[in-house]
Amino acid sequence: MPELMIQVENLTKVYGSTRAVDDVTFNVRKGEVLGFLGPNGAGKSTTMKVLTCYLAPTGGRAQVAGFDVFDNSLEVRKHLGYLPEDTPLYKDMTVLEYLQFAAAMRGMASDRSEKRIKEIGGRCGLHEVAGKLVGELSRGYRQRVGLAQAMLDDPDILILDEPTSGLDPNQIVEIRQLIKEVGKEKTVILSTHILPEVQATCSRILIISSGKLVADGTPDELRAREKASRYRLVVEANGTTAEAVKARLASIKGVSRCDTVLGEERAHAFSLDAAGDEDLRKILFRAAVDNKWTLLELQREAASLETVFRNLTTGEESKS
Ligand code: ADP
Ligand code: MG
Repeated sequence: MPELMIQVENLTKVYGSTRAVDDVTFNVRKGEVLGFLGPNGAGKSTTMKVLTCYLAPTGGRAQVAGFDVFDNSLEVRKHLGYLPEDTPLYKDMTVLEYLQFAAAMRGMASDRSEKRIKEIGGRCGLHEVAGKLVGELSRGYRQRVGLAQAMLDDPDILILDEPTSGLDPNQIVEIRQLIKEVGKEKTVILSTHILPEVQATCSRILIISSGKLVADGTPDELRAREKASRYRLVVEANGTTAEAVKARLASIKGVSRCDTVLGEERAHAFSLDAAGDEDLRKILFRAAVDNKWTLLELQREAASLETVFRNLTTGEESKS
């Protein structure tokens, strides 16, 4: 098995006049849980459909487990488990029948498929609904059936398109746990438009916006790109007005913005933005001492992944 499980080079997919995926290049190493993050319409599903051989690319290439998705799609499919975004399940089959059908479609031998259905069914919490019709299941259970189907043949790579969409908070926690566990042994790509999703589950994040890849790194690396930090500070400045304190704070080198915020009675509270990655806390403390303000609170917040995501993807139409 190659170390690079997925290699995508200058991948482009055009639908009519829409460049859904625009010159995207990335690799996924063995054992990574990669979060594919972007607003609705960014091109996540399209990329996944190319990787899973459901769509031919317009340009560029993609390899999965060392095989080209276009020239060698049969080999690619053998290595993949795929949960599509709209989990197409046969509603008039029972859960067990559906999983048996999925196993047969993958050409699994019947003794092995029986064993795997038991094992994966257990892992996905499906035993108690095995005899129920798929069409009668709740959204959460249907999602689990889709996940079980994707993992049935023990693929090396799992591609999960919005695996937790439409689930309630408890189900989300369960599915995340399951993905994390699977991610210990397998290579996983999951897409989502929800930031906390990738923070909770993924070791690496790709951010896609309007078909273009705009960031690629670990959550920490992405946070480090955003140099700005914000300070919150509360002082008691006996007799001095908030405006005077504010003016003094705003004059400190490195402070790009200073706002008065609602504080306690008699105390003045401020929110400061600073450019650059220098820690201004010592300087702010000094300013308080020199001006005889009593410092009641001083807090530094590093840029959040949320800020990074918003800065990289603003301007994009969100359809939900
Ligand atoms: P995401 O999964 O990130 O929400 P998609 O890959 O589904 O994004 O869609 C990317 C862009 O391609 C969107 O602008 C979408 O409207 C368009 N698109 C997706 N599928 C089709 C299609 N079959 N025909 C035409 N346009 C499509
Ligand atoms: Mg999608």
